[in-house]
Amino acid sequence: MMRIGLGFDIHRFTSRGGTLKLGGVTIPHSRGLAGHSDGDVLLHAIADALLGAIAGPDLGELFPSSDPSLRQADSRRFVEHSYALVRRAGWRVANLDAVVVSDAPRLAPHKPKIRQALGRLLELPPEAVSVKGKTTEGFSPGADGISAQAVVLLERIRRRPQSTVHSPRRASAPRIRRSGGKRSA
Ligand SMILES: [Zn+2]
Repeated sequence: MMRIGLGFDIHRFTSRGGTLKLGGVTIPHSRGLAGHSDGDVLLHAIADALLGAIAGPDLGELFPSSDPSLRQADSRRFVEHSYALVRRAGWRVANLDAVVVSDAPRLAPHKPKIRQALGRLLELPPEAVSVKGKTTEGFSPGADGISAQAVVLLERIRRRPQSTVHSPRRASAPRIRRSGGKRSA
């Protein structure tokens, strides 16, 4: 059994300064991305893909920009939370594919670091994490900001057979409980 999730996000550059984060990695650039959190457009797209795959609430519903405690928040937190919901629902990530649309900076030199960071967040080997950089050749919004798209595939986590097969343990449980109850009473 499998599920698929799609995420998209877009952020403008700040008017000046700031730290640019992509995939949880700090990228050297003259401007960062504007946003209530750290503006990590790639992590936001990935979190929405994870949540979409389990038909959960979207990122904005879970972490509203009206929440003052999320100001400048590290967006890895959003992905960690979304991934925890995926695991709790009985799924694990099979692979991630993402596109980052940015005229500047170029993604290429930072790809290895970003893939590594994403693999750590989602417990994935490098061969299951893909990030591709695209430019708009000068068309907006590539020049004024960065957008990202992400797709995740989820697989069912197999349940351990012992939970249904081992009846001896279950049969002995009431006896233990009964003697324990007498002692405490
Ligand atoms: Zn965002």
